Amino acid sequence: MKDTQMEAGLYCNSCKEELPHHVYYINGKIVRVECQECRRTMVFKVDVLKESIKRSTSVSLLNLTEYQKNIKKI
Ligand SMILES: [Zn+2]
Repeated sequence: MKDTQMEAGLYCNSCKEELPHHVYYINGKIVRVECQECRRTMVFKVDVLKESIKRSTSVSLLNLTEYQKNIKKI
């Protein structure tokens, strides 16, 4: 299992503004996003089994788009 960490400027629902976030990936999928300002953490469920079969190494940009879609549902 490969996990990655990066930083991204994302909108925080608590701070009500765009701030740097720590974004944690496992196998290229976002599993956790943490606001560096208020430390609010969002956890994403990942189907690890399905991921390992698919062996997806898709780029983070795609996942960030997914994230932007998900944050609206929270
Ligand atoms: Zn925040």
